[in-house]
Amino acid sequence: MPFGRQKLIGIILEEIDNSDFPSNRLREIISVLDTENPLGQEIFKLASWAAKYYVHPIGDALQTALPVYLRNNDDVTPSLTEFWYVENTENAESVIEKLKRAPKQQQIYRLLLEASGSHNSGDDNGHISAAGLDQEQLNATTENWRTAIRALLKKQLISQAQRPAILLPNVSHTDFPPLNQEQQQAVDAINNHQDEHAVHLLNGITGSGKTEVYLALCETILAAGKQVLILVPEIGLTPQLTRRFLQRLNHGVVILHSAMNDKQRYAAWHAAAHEQAQLLIGTRSSIFTPMPNLGLIIVDEEHDGSYKQQDGFRYNARDLAIVRARNKNIPIIMGSATASLESLNNTNERRYIQHQLTQRANKKPLPKIQLVNLCNQKLHEGMAETLLTRVKQHLQQNGQILLFINRRGFAPLLMCHDCGWTTNCQRCDAHMTYHKRHHQLQCHHCGAQRRAPETCEDCGGSNILAIGTGTERVEQYLQETFPETQVSRIDRDTTRKKGSLQEKLEKARSGESGILVGTQMLAKGHDFPNITLVCILDTDQALFSADFRAAEHLAQLITQVSGRAGRAEKAGEVMIQTHHPDHPLLQNLLHQGYPAFASSALEERRDAGLPPCYHLALLRCESVDASAATTFLNQALALAGDVEKKDLDIFGPLPAPMERRAGRYRYQVMLQSKHRKTLHPFLNWWIPQLQQLASARKVRWSLDVDPYDTF
Ligand code: ADP
Ligand code: ZN
Ligand code: ZN
Repeated sequence: MPFGRQKLIGIILEEIDNSDFPSNRLREIISVLDTENPLGQEIFKLASWAAKYYVHPIGDALQTALPVYLRNNDDVTPSLTEFWYVENTENAESVIEKLKRAPKQQQIYRLLLEASGSHNSGDDNGHISAAGLDQEQLNATTENWRTAIRALLKKQLISQAQRPAILLPNVSHTDFPPLNQEQQQAVDAINNHQDEHAVHLLNGITGSGKTEVYLALCETILAAGKQVLILVPEIGLTPQLTRRFLQRLNHGVVILHSAMNDKQRYAAWHAAAHEQAQLLIGTRSSIFTPMPNLGLIIVDEEHDGSYKQQDGFRYNARDLAIVRARNKNIPIIMGSATASLESLNNTNERRYIQHQLTQRANKKPLPKIQLVNLCNQKLHEGMAETLLTRVKQHLQQNGQILLFINRRGFAPLLMCHDCGWTTNCQRCDAHMTYHKRHHQLQCHHCGAQRRAPETCEDCGGSNILAIGTGTERVEQYLQETFPETQVSRIDRDTTRKKGSLQEKLEKARSGESGILVGTQMLAKGHDFPNITLVCILDTDQALFSADFRAAEHLAQLITQVSGRAGRAEKAGEVMIQTHHPDHPLLQNLLHQGYPAFASSALEERRDAGLPPCYHLALLRCESVDASAATTFLNQALALAGDVEKKDLDIFGPLPAPMERRAGRYRYQVMLQSKHRKTLHPFLNWWIPQLQQLASARKVRWSLDVDPYDTF
């Protein structure tokens, strides 16, 4: 479609006979790229629903749903790869016997037989499975296999077929634990609702075997010829989880996440959309993948913030997963050890069905948690002596230690000891973090970088102090203190290179790294079997944060990180540093556990008029000119003032918690209502009006429905 000098791709939603636009402003279509809707009705409906719910342009919502590759290329079939398998496994023994004079053929036949498992290479529903072996897998196990394959094909002892190259190969494995009673109960209860929509919350403590429950449910659904979508919060988690599924299931599996290139993502999307893949494991945007025969959705770690897109089209994939399951009339399972207050509230109100796993699957006791009072203690780079003593003792007993601090870099700021000058970011209301290895200052909010100063930029003094502690500083101190031990830092700075995260995680899992220092990257569901001591270095900041979810995040973090301790043979121990050991949040969490914390936190949210008891929307606005931002928001408020607003409170304009970021002033208006049916019709009326305001064109503004935070 020509627009000025540009050609643009458009999506036709419907045809009408007349238009309100003057005919000279209408444009002609140059060429039709696709006559069929590549998303299919189901995804089209989901994206349209989301556009309406989040009050976001439908075109942008559809763009999010379409694979990038498909926007720039024709819809071609992604590459296929040949594979070989044993179709008829019943008389395998006699075949092997017959092949004893052709040892190479016998060897290859055995390999294929093993890889084909007890299943045929397509299930009863004619689906391609990833059983059997392809060229790459054969190359990896044996040499000179082609002649043998040709001979076996000729004797019709094996079969040959093609499958999408993007399908992951199965990993043969046989040793699976039987489900324990709680797991079996959850599986049975959910299987009883297999053909109807229901939202199940699988509330299981860390290490209780939630993944085994997912696997058992997948087996049933896949055996019935249906597809399964599994959402996971992090790319880092996919390999570990995917491996367990590949060991267990003899079906086509694909993964989908942002570290894949556009072509690979499209291939995975295509395989799912054409039912060549029965199982899709993916991060947030996978929710928009067409799966015509979808029978089950699983959302792992449902409390995780990464399900919420934080810019542009600000959808929440967990919430859309529920909508998708409802539209399709299928069950959805959300699992967590620390369920979100949203989900717990829905469980209390009986909208979700709860299933509990209260025991660790391997019967190991939960770790002992201890608060370390920092008041008046001598600190070494932010660590108390009592804590360091325990680190040493655990190392002597061949334990492994995880230290968690949610701040990367060496120190959050530099300060002049002579005059008090600090390293502030020129463009944000924030300090610049000191990164020692590169001798650099970095602003973690706008990305600004510069060389760290040797002398004070105000008085010229050379007494520059690094104030506070980040991962780099902790790593350095521990490496100096325990030179015999491998200290591994896992944060965004040390895992930028492709593959480096996996490598570090592998060394952590094997126990090669004796001490792990990391940010929240380490808090998520990784299974490190050797960890005996977990230390949480900074809790005070979260206890007094302006963010309304800070307490929830801290409680989730403590519970999740603690769950990393004592998973295997050795008993675990957790130490939490704080200046406020008597804080009710910590006391409540430690003595009564996460569920007790969650119910009191829910009460507080109710009293404060916050989610999930109330519904929020945030109108954000930013501009280099502060008054342009407030002018727009004030005009928006004036418009809102004209309508009846029973059960709807509007606050603002207020400065954002960080008022200036990347050189822009940021203000916001908060809308709060007890009922969605008040809030949403209002937004649907109000937002299109704002688009007409002249002041809107001078600022950047956006609406965030169900904001994750108010920053
Ligand atoms: P979660 O996802 O709840 O943290 P996992 O599913 O990863 O827990 O299980 C934790 C560990 O317990 C894994 O090593 C798993 O193999 C093991 N496990 C799970 N279920 C059982 C079971 N029924 N019997 C024995 N071991 C189990
Ligand atoms: Zn100075
Ligand atoms: Zn900045």
